[in-house]
Amino acid sequence: KMVGDQPAFGKGGYRSKQQQQSGGGVDRELINKQRKSLPIYDFKDTFIQHVRTHSTTVLVGETGSGKTTQIPQYLLEAGFGNDGLICCTQPRRVAAETLARRVADEVGCTCGAEVGYTVRFKDNTSSLTKIKYMTDGMLLREALLDDTFQRYSVIILDEAHERSINTDVLFGIVKKAVEKRPSLKIVVTSATLDTGKFCEYFGASEPFFIKGRTFPVETHYLQEPCDDYVETSILTVLMIHLKEAAGDILVFLTGQEEIDNAGERLVHQMEELKKSVGDSIVLPELLVLPLTATMPEDVQQKVFDPTPAGCRKVVLATNVAETSITIDNLYYVVDAGFCKQNRYDAKVGLEQLLIVPVSQAQANQRSGRAGRIGPGKAYRLYTEDQYDKDMEAATVPEIQRSNLFHIVLQLKAVGVNDLINFDFMDKPPMETLVGALQKLRYLEALDDDGILTAVGRRMAQLPVDPSQAKTLLTAADLNCAGPVLTIVSMLAVQKKGIFYRPRDKQEIADAKKRAFHQPEGDQLTLMTVYNQWIESGMSEAWAQANFVKHRLLMEARDTREQLQDMLTKRGTRELNQSANKDPVAIRKAITAGYFFNAAKRTNNDMYVTLSDRREVALHPSSSLRELVPKYVIYDELHMTSREYMREVMAIDPAWLTELAPSYYARPKPGKLTKEQMCERLVPTLRAWESGASWRISKQRRKT
Ligand code: ADP
Ligand code: MG
Repeated sequence: KMVGDQPAFGKGGYRSKQQQQSGGGVDRELINKQRKSLPIYDFKDTFIQHVRTHSTTVLVGETGSGKTTQIPQYLLEAGFGNDGLICCTQPRRVAAETLARRVADEVGCTCGAEVGYTVRFKDNTSSLTKIKYMTDGMLLREALLDDTFQRYSVIILDEAHERSINTDVLFGIVKKAVEKRPSLKIVVTSATLDTGKFCEYFGASEPFFIKGRTFPVETHYLQEPCDDYVETSILTVLMIHLKEAAGDILVFLTGQEEIDNAGERLVHQMEELKKSVGDSIVLPELLVLPLTATMPEDVQQKVFDPTPAGCRKVVLATNVAETSITIDNLYYVVDAGFCKQNRYDAKVGLEQLLIVPVSQAQANQRSGRAGRIGPGKAYRLYTEDQYDKDMEAATVPEIQRSNLFHIVLQLKAVGVNDLINFDFMDKPPMETLVGALQKLRYLEALDDDGILTAVGRRMAQLPVDPSQAKTLLTAADLNCAGPVLTIVSMLAVQKKGIFYRPRDKQEIADAKKRAFHQPEGDQLTLMTVYNQWIESGMSEAWAQANFVKHRLLMEARDTREQLQDMLTKRGTRELNQSANKDPVAIRKAITAGYFFNAAKRTNNDMYVTLSDRREVALHPSSSLRELVPKYVIYDELHMTSREYMREVMAIDPAWLTELAPSYYARPKPGKLTKEQMCERLVPTLRAWESGASWRISKQRRKT
């Protein structure tokens, strides 16, 4: 049986046959032995002593030394759990989940009891919980309610070297929290030695250093650059499998689709190879497993199961395996040298997830994974010259290359009004900040002076981006919250693609999808899919028959329930689910949040955006493919061969001036022009622009 409805390779990622049974009995003795063998074990007492005597500890140790799994347990054993929770943040959801499960096993409880986790749309903690793994985004949300974190005795900001946008903002917030509440303890952990900056920022005299055990890693470069790193990675894995001694392989690729594709090809090539050698030679088994942020839990967990005897495991991972997740028994690393990265162009307001070369620091982290249990080998699928010339020394922090729309609203809601003087470790680019402030002003989340409005406060409390939050609140006002909750939840899962097209059944899959199409657009189409699934009794068979991923529908349902809870709990008037199903009300609510993304048709399926006259195209898979309405709004732009609008909906242009007069209507007397607005929002803009510190984003650290 396939796991979930992933069109994944093998059976749910497994190479079938020797399905390993995990779970069931946890071997306590083995776990205790493992815990004691970790490098951090020798430092247990001195570490606790350090935390007792310092308000902030900067903890440095190689990946795999036991920081993330052990520190919370040591703190708990030392009594830090008596007057508050111990929390440990992770930049990635998948890491928070797997680590909590592992630590629950170590502690000897079920996950959700003494050890639990909280990620967006999923709270797996209880009144028993003492150790809480959570995404950094969730801790930031908690700061909205209490910026001194009264519930916590210790906050561990883990994976700080990654410099995720949420962790960066938390740096400033926890630093302030400790000033206000000195009993709060902060631990900032990093896997890289370059921690001078952290120490300086947090006022720590020196880092607490854990000497790891590492073995030499032999690094191999390509002689010539390769055109197709996926193909090269497959060949490299096969070469290692056939020629090298036992030991598992970790391959770094960039994303789910690429990993599925590589996995399928790898399994196929192994089969071909077996056929070609016949029965005379017995080739060892190769177990191919994916590890990405969007996999179902049971597939994730398989990566950690011991490799069956006589078999070699190869894990195809995204950069989640770079530092936050440790896989045992690794001797070989294959590094494609690329990762997916957010890039935001403030001038055109375009956010893109691009495949870019990793930094040298990342490449070294990746190679290092091979040297944890013995001398290892790293195969870099690029030349030494490319390493020297095409790769930055270190990755630019996310806060300097992301859209700040969401984070600025969060900061305002935490009470940080003066963003200019906020204690950022590295300041974000000014134009991005100002752009975000302006957009929030147009959404009426801020007033002319940049102060959070009542609407803005309600928006910030919803765990979705400001456009979606505005849409939900407007829907509540227009009495159509029920259907709009469905749409927002479906849009969230649609990012992972809810429809699938098996290679041999593309035509019927497409026909099934077309049957859902609504003349008003993709948002309404997604709602129709969800409603029909609910009518089917949330049937998995229905989902399969319609080529819709059942797992994602379940996820949408969970998301919807959580959002609905928050929308009702937070003082929004009682939601009457059955009230208004009028598509016009629904579309108006969506327009209220997404009016920035309006476009007008020029010819055929080409459109031009109203905000900045960009040429954009209707995506070929859109429900509006045949109707091509005159005016539309879209969920987001996707840059591939052309710039495509994704999830597109037809609108009446009159709604734009009705719902967003300050953006679309000419300024009336007494109303601020764009320039005046900008000055009011950022009073010190001039002074600020002359400050040299704002150019940091362009600066690259060379070490
Ligand atoms: P660090 O945070 O210093 O990188 P961790 O605490 O994450 O180190 O990992 C310590 C050890 O815990 C690893 O060597 C690994 O063997 C083990 N470990 C971590 N997660 C799991 C898991 N989900 N299943 C089995 N072992 C795990
Ligand atoms: Mg860790």
